[in-house]
Amino acid sequence: MENMKKNSNIKCSVAQCKYNMVSEDYCCLDCISVGTHEQNPTVPECTDCNSFVKRTGCGC
Ligand code: SF4
Repeated sequence: MENMKKNSNIKCSVAQCKYNMVSEDYCCLDCISVGTHEQNPTVPECTDCNSFVKRTGCGC
């Protein structure tokens, strides 16, 4: 993706997301939305990045 600019405030290692820098474990969005899929979240695994968009294209 062109114009990707690392946001030093958002660390992320989800390389399958098109907003991930991949070469560095950071997100390139200015702002992300985090939510949960649980009624009563208790651990980090209960939370989700709702800004995730699956990366498409070759080599990924
Ligand atoms: S949008 Fe969410 S999942 Fe995607 S790189 Fe940014 S923080 Fe990670």
